Amino acid sequence: MEAPKKTIPIKPVADDRPGGAAQGDEAAGEGKSVRLFEASRKIYARTISGYFARWRWWLVALTQLVFYGLPWLTWGDRQAVLFDLASRRFYLGGWVLYPQDLIYLSGLLVISALSLFLFTAVAGRLWCGYSCPQTVYTEIFMWVEQHIEGNRSARMRLDNTKMNAEKLVLKSFKHIVWIGIAMWTGFTFVGYFTPIRELGLSFLQTRMGSWEVFWVFFYAFATYGNAGFMREQVCKYMCPYARFQSAMFDKDTLIVAYDTQRGEKRGPRSKNVDLLKTGLGDCIDCKLCVQVCPTGIDIRDGLQYECIGCGLCADACDSVMDKMGYAPGLIRYDTQRAMDGVREVHRGVVDASKPPPERAPLTTHLLRPRVLIYSTLLTLLTAGLLFSLVTRAPLKVDAVRDRASLARVVDEGRIENVYRLQIMNATEQTQRYRIEARGLEGLQVVSGAEADVGPAESRWVAVRLQIPPESAPPGSHQVHFDVSADNGTARVSELATFIVPR
Ligand code: SF4
Ligand code: SF4
Repeated sequence: MEAPKKTIPIKPVADDRPGGAAQGDEAAGEGKSVRLFEASRKIYARTISGYFARWRWWLVALTQLVFYGLPWLTWGDRQAVLFDLASRRFYLGGWVLYPQDLIYLSGLLVISALSLFLFTAVAGRLWCGYSCPQTVYTEIFMWVEQHIEGNRSARMRLDNTKMNAEKLVLKSFKHIVWIGIAMWTGFTFVGYFTPIRELGLSFLQTRMGSWEVFWVFFYAFATYGNAGFMREQVCKYMCPYARFQSAMFDKDTLIVAYDTQRGEKRGPRSKNVDLLKTGLGDCIDCKLCVQVCPTGIDIRDGLQYECIGCGLCADACDSVMDKMGYAPGLIRYDTQRAMDGVREVHRGVVDASKPPPERAPLTTHLLRPRVLIYSTLLTLLTAGLLFSLVTRAPLKVDAVRDRASLARVVDEGRIENVYRLQIMNATEQTQRYRIEARGLEGLQVVSGAEADVGPAESRWVAVRLQIPPESAPPGSHQVHFDVSADNGTARVSELATFIVPR
């Protein structure tokens, strides 16, 4: 017998957010099935100006200046920042790094992760709201959209209109500009891995390499898709950071929060109504904070993982508070501890006779064990990495035994081993290197004692070592190669094995 279908009755909840639908409307009424996924709805974010909006634009400008500008800087006669994968060399200003220097890259990644932990513990999702490429490009794409299609209401109207000539022109123009930005972004990205001037020239002459074409288009497509269409969906469903951030939050982390004690009971009212008589809080329920939110959430529902901490709702609410003659900060950056400590001191029109809100002292916010641990680790690691980079020898040597030529007995019974030394010159000038060996009595370099290596180049050098007969018993013996620059700027020792046959 067929088992009866299980249904879950859900009460529809009216959603007055932009483009919102009644949640659970599929399930309204008994006997209907429940959707297990949320249908995505387009968010028409309203533009707002204010303190945090200005900060966001400054950071958009700064991050884009760095991203688009860096590959065009030169250092001597080469690109200042270039991750030259083809020749396996990374140029960072005056530094030339080889794959053997991967430890620096690992150090940089650890420092970046620790910085993220530290900033999250202190100031919540600063990275998400102000510097994350997803946020920054979404902001730029939304700016383009709004300048072409108009403000929020105009965009909603346009989307609800059937296709006509005006809509076609506006939509096409928007997509052309978006694609232009995306292509330039893809081109710049690839310009970090192949010299950007040559890349530009080969692009103009349509003779770009196939992998370069692939990556320019791939990165452009990702930018176009993520910033033009996916937008907040990336933050909500794809970004792992949103999921584990709560593990780094505590009551002293700065978050964007709605002051429930001050705002409730929310409701519309005329400007001069007596709040004490009506029992109303400061929230006039205008929903401006929801309309400006790029992820379309209502911060009055409490801290949500979708909140990227951009502070636009705080700007929006402050503008409303200003119009109403109320104190700003109904939505604000604050700690949960401070929020809990605030009593009804804000309620109503600004009243100088009332004490300022109780706040946890700054030391409570900053001097916390996790903040101190992250800061100490970050300082030590950064100092260690910088010290190691600054004092690093501009020379790398790898020694391998030449497998084609085994240990052998040569003239006068002398024992010979042949090696291949890879000498990597990490300076910008041609260098002459002297190769010496030590570790066994009478050990001599009989060929390959000197090598010239061009700027930022590496060269394989065949080196023959010999010892007199009876100098060492049969077996493996440790020896050292000492490679030093002729001008005395670098010296490196490399361990190798010398084999004496039976
Ligand atoms: S903007 Fe401020 S007043 Fe308006 S609904 Fe949001 S919290 Fe309430
Ligand atoms: S709730 Fe406020 S801070 Fe959070 S994403 Fe929306 S606008 Fe930004």
